[in-house]
Amino acid sequence: MTEQFTKKRNDFLIFGSPLIEDEEIEEVTKTLKSGWLGTGPKVHKFEEMFEQYQGVKYAMALNSCTAALHLSMLIVGIKPGDEVIVPTMTFAATANAVIHAGGKPVFADCEKDTMNIDPLDIERKITSRTKAIVPVHFAGRACNMGSIMDIANRYNLKVVEDCAHAIETEYQGKKAGTFGDMGCFSFYVTKNIVTGEGGMAITDNEENANKVKVLGLHGMSKDAWKRFSDTGYKHYQVVYAGFKYNMMDIQAAIGIHQLPRIEKYWKRREEIWNIYNEAFEDLPVFTPAPIEPHTRHAYHLYTLLLDTDRLKINRDEFLDEMTRRNIGVGVHYIALHLHQYYQKEFGYKRGDFPNAEWISDRTVSLPFSAKLRDQDVKDVIDAVKEILKNKVK
Ligand SMILES: *Cc1c(COP(=O)(O)O)cnc(C)c1O
Repeated sequence: MTEQFTKKRNDFLIFGSPLIEDEEIEEVTKTLKSGWLGTGPKVHKFEEMFEQYQGVKYAMALNSCTAALHLSMLIVGIKPGDEVIVPTMTFAATANAVIHAGGKPVFADCEKDTMNIDPLDIERKITSRTKAIVPVHFAGRACNMGSIMDIANRYNLKVVEDCAHAIETEYQGKKAGTFGDMGCFSFYVTKNIVTGEGGMAITDNEENANKVKVLGLHGMSKDAWKRFSDTGYKHYQVVYAGFKYNMMDIQAAIGIHQLPRIEKYWKRREEIWNIYNEAFEDLPVFTPAPIEPHTRHAYHLYTLLLDTDRLKINRDEFLDEMTRRNIGVGVHYIALHLHQYYQKEFGYKRGDFPNAEWISDRTVSLPFSAKLRDQDVKDVIDAVKEILKNKVK
């Protein structure tokens, strides 16, 4: 695999590099100079903006989506012995949140084309211990929330939506994250909008919202962050052994300028999505499935599936070839049941989830950020085409 290739970019195209503009850089500087770095007015403003964007009553900013998922598990009442159905085709945080609450993640396979959790497999995995389902809107594609909510209602299960990929996602005109009991979002560096690290939990339920605030800040009574403000010192009561999950104003300073540009960034990714689809049409690859009618895709990941039956190159060799050409790539994901921890702890093995395995062996995520210039997009396409050119069986 060390044959020569014709072209190489001068600089490395970082996978998932965010677009950071002057306004947030200035806002961060202002925040640092203000002396109020921690949770404060900017976090509050970011929460209000997010409530408005999602059309929900309560949005609580946290330091990650992982934190939002963990608190959501506690809030829907997951206890030791409880089972929670999660897709095996997801990031580790989805399952780990269940484990941290004391529950057991029970994996379900995904659909081969949409890569989203398969409602039929959810129903097969339900036992008397099942308490909740965590659908993940994979790559920004809406899960089949009609079927999932129907199952949840019939079996009396809670639903926590992992919307780490899905800030802009809609299903039949309704925003992802508003179907279940809680919706969890991420502003990690590679996500559609960023705060460095950061997350948000949303709900229309006031009691759940208050629990997020209290559990996320040491279990201190609500609004304890205001204790140092100019309205005078306020005593708090610790009402629970909580966690340290609050977002800082330094992070929110970035978020309050990223969020207003979310639609602009989305349009740019939609454009790149269409350019990629057309460019790869005739290659021995599978491009993403068509977008389901009456849904809105958030265009978070562009995942190409190598048709390895027709290729003399495997996925890992392809990743190396892209890197050699100075193009950063990702893998979303190697299914969780193929990782040693879940195998050792829960007895999963290869063969358990055929669709997720098929994807795990073939998937490559291409650079897909709104930051990409036309030349970057062209470089990615050229590299893919060149690598695959002489590799068809
Ligand atoms: C990124 C991601 C998370 C975790 O988000 P953080 O903000 O990094 O904690 C959870 N689930 C999925 C599907 C993700 O992609």
